[in-house]
Amino acid sequence: MDKLQMELWFTEKQTPDHGITSKVVRTLHHEETEYQTVDVIETRQFGNMLLLDGMVMTTDKDEFVYHEMIAHVAMNTHPEPKDVLVIGGGDGGAIREVLKYPTVETATLVEIDERVIEVAKTYFPSIAGALDDPRVRIRIEDGIRYVEKAENAYDVILVDSTEPIGPAVGLFKREFYERIFHALRRDGIMVAQTESPWFNRDLIARVYRDIADLFPIARLYTASVPTYPSGLWSFTLGSKVYDPLEVDEIKLHRPETKYYTPEIHKALFALPKYVAELTK
Ligand code: SAM
Repeated sequence: MDKLQMELWFTEKQTPDHGITSKVVRTLHHEETEYQTVDVIETRQFGNMLLLDGMVMTTDKDEFVYHEMIAHVAMNTHPEPKDVLVIGGGDGGAIREVLKYPTVETATLVEIDERVIEVAKTYFPSIAGALDDPRVRIRIEDGIRYVEKAENAYDVILVDSTEPIGPAVGLFKREFYERIFHALRRDGIMVAQTESPWFNRDLIARVYRDIADLFPIARLYTASVPTYPSGLWSFTLGSKVYDPLEVDEIKLHRPETKYYTPEIHKALFALPKYVAELTK
């Protein structure tokens, strides 16, 4: 008789009625930190996958889309970003993209869970490697507390958070965006990851409204991230002076990327109607 073939599959239940499933080659890491469960699994389809509380945060194969798109739209809209703050983002991917701009003098990462950074350095060196750059400052702290103390200090702030549960709940609140407004310089720009236009419509509409109330310029854009719920992800941008729609394509930087280009930047804001509705 043939040997019994056992296969291990991981499913993230992305809504009560829908999920994403991947075959697991092996489990590389599992731990309960003070804040969340941290797992790393190896998959054939997407390489190593970082899971926080059972939710896919990043994978070797598709991380570039999310990290490039949370960073470059703001970084390339601001004419001279010098001081950049990333809240969350302990895997280091957003910081890696920010560091591609020669104007950057400091890139500060405020991550609540030190273990995410350590695990990323071990299992995702191509993402977390940038955290060793001398321009990077790492603060292990709640991002909400951190921005309360910052005033007129940053050119760009990126909110690279987990889903709005546990310590990340406050990262989706209006008071937090108010603090970000004050932490930005007079011509600063912020971008927050704002979940799926399929599954999180109320959240996107609410965050967009809050940001549009606070900032003279608010823009919503999307990118296709295959391992995130619904495969389509949204980002909400708030800007005090510079409009990402008005940038001169010719003058834009062409950082080394796999998804973002100045042409994509110009096209990003032509939203499908069912997504544009969320900004009305
Ligand atoms: N790209 C991912 C996504 O959209 O699924 C998110 C990246 S994940 C590395 C986000 C990080 O935010 C986690 O490491 C988590 O520990 C951190 N985080 C959650 N709440 C936070 C808070 N209040 N302050 C700082 N970091 C926080």
